Amino acid sequence: MTLLKAVRGTRDLLPPETELWDRVESTARRVFARYNFGEIRTPVFEDTQLFARGVGEETDIVSKEMYTWEDRARAQSEKSQSLTLRPENTAGVVRAYIEHKLGETGLLQKLYYIGPQFRRERPQKGRYRQFWQIGAEAIGPPSAGSESPLRDAEVLEMLASFLDELGITGWTLVLNSVGSASDRPKYVAALRDALAPVKDQMSPDNQRRAETNPLRVLDSKDPADEAIIATLPKIADYLDDESKAHFAAVLAALDACGVKYEVNPRLVRGLDYYTRTTFEFTHGGLGAQNALLGGGRYDGLSEMLGGPKAPGIGFAMGLDRLILTLKTAEGASSGAPQFALADAFLAPLGEALNAPALELARELRRHGLRIELGDGTFRLRKSFEIGNKLAHNIILLGEDEQASGILTVKNFATGEQTKIPRGELAQTLKNS
Ligand code: AMP
Repeated sequence: MTLLKAVRGTRDLLPPETELWDRVESTARRVFARYNFGEIRTPVFEDTQLFARGVGEETDIVSKEMYTWEDRARAQSEKSQSLTLRPENTAGVVRAYIEHKLGETGLLQKLYYIGPQFRRERPQKGRYRQFWQIGAEAIGPPSAGSESPLRDAEVLEMLASFLDELGITGWTLVLNSVGSASDRPKYVAALRDALAPVKDQMSPDNQRRAETNPLRVLDSKDPADEAIIATLPKIADYLDDESKAHFAAVLAALDACGVKYEVNPRLVRGLDYYTRTTFEFTHGGLGAQNALLGGGRYDGLSEMLGGPKAPGIGFAMGLDRLILTLKTAEGASSGAPQFALADAFLAPLGEALNAPALELARELRRHGLRIELGDGTFRLRKSFEIGNKLAHNIILLGEDEQASGILTVKNFATGEQTKIPRGELAQTLKNS
């Protein structure tokens, strides 16, 4: 029989690595809470239309990377529906914002999410078909200040603080402005004009993009096309005064709080919904897939989905890539993540002591101790061998200990063996 394996582009996360994941997630929750963000959890699959309309039919994500299927009607009263595993989470958050009329609160909604996303991409280092994103969105009616450049700067400052708190150094914040919905068509037309005479000399991918979504040509990392791309018009020259002032205010606020950045006029990003500020945090340690996270402003997205005017700004960061970066950094200093040792391995000496051992383990665990429970069928030597691999101490629970209420405890590091009354056991282990 052929053995079944995790599907290409997906993988299992096992302990102790999952402890690292937990650390990253809890750091995100802690840092985001300081900025008054609350968690949102949206469904893993949505109506396909949400992504077609929200992310854009011409994007790589929608045109070739989505996991889409026809969900057959199960009853006469139901209609069959095209469903898609979410390839990103911003569209889902904005759908929820509209569906739950969050705009009617009149307040800025600050929402973060942590969850898996799905794209049928070619798997490689740092690129998977199921990957995890931590993201956040600040969205609301214009009266709540949702268009303000201060929001952009605050989100960027939050990200810088998050990466600092995680201990990730060596990142670069790269940002740009892609202008408002009215600036963009003029620029796209100029790009098309500039590309028309030269596109035949470009890679097949860029020839296709030049036709379908010329902005994406700027994103391309194809070295053969670099020389042509360098000659193309720059979006900065097509921004209206308001967009220019908005971008200048974002940069001024970043300067004021000392967050370093680089402006890259080619950073347009792959998703159609972006307006004005777009950004990425890159990291040299990641190789070709060097974007740790990406995001930007999406002032028209809610309206594209049939909702009220609700400008917003957000980002999504690849948890897989954050972990890779952390592992590389920590691998250099402290080695791969290690299993945390339990406080004690509790060894019942004989099957009759199994049930009393479970009761003692329950008592110790309720004191917050990490206890690995052995089994009364193990020989003493086996209990010591396993205990030594998994815990700092071994507790022996035999007939005598059970009768007297005095436990025998041995510390593996010091080799010291002591007798401890049951009532003092938890405290003694905590102090050891
Ligand atoms: P995007 O939604 O394309 O703007 O991506 C935002 C972030 O998600 C990227 O910067 C990556 O860190 C991460 N990401 C996107 N696609 C993948 C993937 N296929 N595998 C792993 N991480 C990804």
